[in-house]
Amino acid sequence: ALCYAKQFSRGKIVMFEQNHAEHILSAARLTKFLTDADLANELSVRFQPIWNCAEMKLIGFETLARWESPILGSVPPNEFIPAAESSGFITTITSIIFEKALMAATNWPKDLKIGLNISAVDISNDDTVKVVEKLCEKYGIEKRRVTIEITETAAMQDFERSNHCLSEFKKAGMSIAMDDFGTGNSSLSYIQNLPLDHVKLDRSFVQSAEGETKGRQIASTVIELCKALELGCIAEGIESEAQLKAIQLLGCKAFQGYYFSVPMQPDQTLSYIEKHLKM
Ligand code: C2E
Ligand code: CA
Ligand code: CA
Ligand code: CA
Repeated sequence: ALCYAKQFSRGKIVMFEQNHAEHILSAARLTKFLTDADLANELSVRFQPIWNCAEMKLIGFETLARWESPILGSVPPNEFIPAAESSGFITTITSIIFEKALMAATNWPKDLKIGLNISAVDISNDDTVKVVEKLCEKYGIEKRRVTIEITETAAMQDFERSNHCLSEFKKAGMSIAMDDFGTGNSSLSYIQNLPLDHVKLDRSFVQSAEGETKGRQIASTVIELCKALELGCIAEGIESEAQLKAIQLLGCKAFQGYYFSVPMQPDQTLSYIEKHLKM
């Protein structure tokens, strides 16, 4: 790392290395707590609704992991997922989360979709597809209802493996969404070469899309690209009606964000569904 820092203009690289070191340190600490944790009980799921606003229809829910540690309190997934990835706990966590998600979905109407996030480690594991298939069977969930969400950053770690793994999910009948589109080391070749069905427009563009902004231009370009390639586009992080309208004007139909609902407990999904089916 030091050699690397010396080779290039100092300030920037050193800053990067420092941030990186900090991250590794806290991941190492978290790993210790993950080791001692009773993950099957301390992990839980939340569900955030995804809406098709062109048809005013609830499409389904994205599953979001939560870890309530008796010692640390609630640890956000942005912290424990990376720690779990580098320590190998992610495989266990992924199957616990998927099981809780699909179990909850047994009570939903059969046309609602279930979004599941997978990490870079999951994608290089041949068993991930089988785990999901088995759980779908166990809980009687049709595989076409499952959408696998993967970030660009995860996909790029090993393109060939990602391509292979995502193709297996597709063969099994599931859909694939590219998550946080535009924030990773974006490359249009992912869109060209991976077997995608949807793109999730990152909230950073959504939230800067009001007025004549660069964010709006980027959002518009991504939405047009999706249309041209016949990919679904889901705008993430909608917090206000103004943001919804701004993105809707650009031709996007599917939305997710606090404006509709914060991620909810599994049992809350039922009253939410009931309320919105009656509309
Ligand atoms: P993500 O997949 O992009 O999920 C969306 C995140 O944005 C969630 O944060 C959600 O609570 C938050 N969010 C939703 N609507 C809004 C909004 O209107 N405004 C703002 N500011 N935020 C909004 P969360 O639950 O903290 O998850 C963070 C990230 O952790 C996720 O980002 C995902 O990358 C990862 N993650 C969560 N659950 C899992 C999981 O089960 N497996 C894996 N591999 N990663 C997960
Ligand atoms: Ca996601
Ligand atoms: Ca996202
Ligand atoms: Ca994200």
